Amino acid sequence: WSQQFLPTPLHLEDSVRAQKVEARLKELVLCGEVLRRVADVFEQEIERGLSEQPSSLQMENTYVPELPDGTEEGVFLALDLGGTNFRVLLLELAAGQLVRQQVKHYHISNALRLGTGEELFNFLADCVLDFVKQLGMEDQTFSLGFTFSFPMKQHSISSGELITWTKSFKCSGLEGVDVAALLERCLRARNLQITVRVLLNDTTGTLIAGAHMHKNVGIGVILGTGSNGCYMERASRVQHWEAAHERVQDVCVDIEWGAFGDNGCLDFIKTDFDREVDAGSLLATSFTFEKYIGGKYLGSILSCVLSALARAGLFPAEPAPDALQTAHLSLFEDENCAGEVSRTMTALREVCAGASITAEDARVAQHVAHVISNRAAQLVSVCISTLVRRMSRPHVAVAVDGSVFKHHPRIARLMRTYIALLAPHHSFSLLGAEDGSGKGSALTAAIAARLATRDS
Ligand code: BGC
Ligand code: MG
Repeated sequence: WSQQFLPTPLHLEDSVRAQKVEARLKELVLCGEVLRRVADVFEQEIERGLSEQPSSLQMENTYVPELPDGTEEGVFLALDLGGTNFRVLLLELAAGQLVRQQVKHYHISNALRLGTGEELFNFLADCVLDFVKQLGMEDQTFSLGFTFSFPMKQHSISSGELITWTKSFKCSGLEGVDVAALLERCLRARNLQITVRVLLNDTTGTLIAGAHMHKNVGIGVILGTGSNGCYMERASRVQHWEAAHERVQDVCVDIEWGAFGDNGCLDFIKTDFDREVDAGSLLATSFTFEKYIGGKYLGSILSCVLSALARAGLFPAEPAPDALQTAHLSLFEDENCAGEVSRTMTALREVCAGASITAEDARVAQHVAHVISNRAAQLVSVCISTLVRRMSRPHVAVAVDGSVFKHHPRIARLMRTYIALLAPHHSFSLLGAEDGSGKGSALTAAIAARLATRDS
């Protein structure tokens, strides 16, 4: 059983070189026993997080108590901030179906990502103003769903404070600030009649969008620039509740598994490559787990490993700093699956400043990409399988979105294999749920509106 997790061995004509390469990668290879241990730690951290004991898992109460029931109605604005793009959307729902959608992408410069929080939020409000003006709707009243894909301390379905930035954002002065209130203030300053009806994470949006497609959805996962998951938990198991939110049976919990291990509980899988990636990242010493899985980091791990191999005389040259991206890892995996090397050779020549690259070198790089992808697939599968076991339903459908899930040629297949090995006797399915941050946000805003009328 334990051996079924191992990556395909490297075969080279030079078998001594193959052995030496494999020896250097050994720490990145996790067998089933180690993954079981990761799963045990994950489960302990879940329990601690839910009961408000110190834990690397936030286990945030999102206050989203129910899934779409097909009655969702209305016109909503949605904002999606956190991943590759910033988007403003207008969505219209009728009888739970999306009947109209308009989207505009806006570029957020590095200066804005790293500037002050006020500047960033003023920019977001300017984009909303531009968007509604373009539609000739600047005088209308709207409810807005704000998909803010960062860890938050939520006080209600429509308010929450930023805990810490992740991925490629690091604006000053926003930690501890209610981002929904700040956004609303910036919108009001532009004379817009827009109320932030829900503040949600992209995983929650994905869960809700997925639940709209498939009735057994209970888990939402993002495997993109960053990685995270949420699931429907029994409300009685969630310690953190603020007034005005009672009476519910289940509630969506945002796990924030990107930070899993930040307290050292996962140090037994950390490698020198991971330490190097962390040290070179924008937010060092945080989001340990995300740095093993997220698309923002997979290319950097690949680069670190190839550089180490080059220094050991096992690879012709060190790649230029930041030249290798996660897209290269996907490309190498794609060609590896097809048994080809030509595109890998071309890409390696580019990133290694024209160094001469042989077919054998390309196979080495493909193998490294495979080992890194395999580990990422295993770790995310540990989380999903733990949730599937915990929920103990007849069938759990998992709604997944994100660039790595969509573009990596075999990560979905690997995940299916590993989840099945880690949660035997449990029935599950993985569904690609497109655009949880857009559609899911509007659906959640409609659910919030429904709850508000029920309460009043
Ligand atoms: C954030 C999460 C988010 C995930 C995927 C992480 O860095 O902390 O809130 O869900 O990225 O976008
Ligand atoms: Mg996204």
